[in-house]
Amino acid sequence: MTPLERALRERIAAEGPITIETFMEACNGYYYATRDPFGAAGDFTTAPEISQMFGEMVGACLADVWARAGEPSGAVYAELGPGRGTLAADALRVLCSGTFSGRVHLVETSPVLRQAQASSVADAQWHESIEELPDASLMLVANEFLDALPIQQMVHGTERRITTLAGGLAFDRDGEVIELSPAREAAVTAVAAKLVKNGGVALFVDYGHARSGKGDTLQAVRRHGFVPVLADPGEQDLTSHVDFEAVLRAARNAGAAVTPVVGQGEWLARLGITTRAASLTQSNPGCAEEVQSALERLISPDQMGQLFKVVAIHSPDWPVPAGFA
Ligand code: SAH
Repeated sequence: MTPLERALRERIAAEGPITIETFMEACNGYYYATRDPFGAAGDFTTAPEISQMFGEMVGACLADVWARAGEPSGAVYAELGPGRGTLAADALRVLCSGTFSGRVHLVETSPVLRQAQASSVADAQWHESIEELPDASLMLVANEFLDALPIQQMVHGTERRITTLAGGLAFDRDGEVIELSPAREAAVTAVAAKLVKNGGVALFVDYGHARSGKGDTLQAVRRHGFVPVLADPGEQDLTSHVDFEAVLRAARNAGAAVTPVVGQGEWLARLGITTRAASLTQSNPGCAEEVQSALERLISPDQMGQLFKVVAIHSPDWPVPAGFA
């Protein structure tokens, strides 16, 4: 039994069944606080860890929108859940190759990952929450951040809970599931409120669906494979598919402008990732195969290209970022 499972069982014994929200928050808080889970030797690999091209396209998108906004000097780069800091490093290399020289603000709760980020990005400032970000125009990125935030599952109008059963953890009811995520909506609302107040844009990249729907999407991943969601609490990554319709609704309700939701493959292609791949290959012919396979993983519809989606929310005063039309 994991230390977290022992604590959760004691809690259930004392207080009764816990919500999935409580469970996810406890599991992911522990999971990320105690390890660097990324890469071949870890549990899963994210887009920025596949290739530098991903972060470079994000940087190019932000550089372009910053230029079209009139190069506001107070704008800062911000990121939610930056992992190892790889995306920030790649995006900032592109963004700072021009005249941008804004500060870097990272929202991260894991001490282990903050340390990894410190070795990738010079002179960053860390925050516990979105609300703590400075009152400045934000150029904000969040890759695979929303999927890790807790969800609720409703079954026949009642919130599904987790209880103890015959030595393990079990759901208290089964049936058709409808997922909600107040935590995700609160995060998007907080970002949108900042953008409306101070200007800026935010790019959200995640797997999920463009329209709200029914179904259980809660999943656990360990060592690059799916595992039962209630097994080994705190030792595996718990996520669910992002309902982008709910994300856009939260952003609009807070007064922000939104773009259409587009596939990651389409978005990266419009930003010129194929040209970037060709130039990387030309300067390092020995890496041709590696670059080609990373490109396919990122953009091919049967790999990450379609399941992963990108949306931008922005201040009505800022231009629409490239890649969405
Ligand atoms: N963006 C990175 C990492 C994605 S994993 C990448 O693409 O590689 C999720 C990240 O969000 C981790 O850095 C994790 O520590 C962080 N995180 C999860 N829940 C969080 C929360 N509530 N507040 C801040 N950071 C959180």
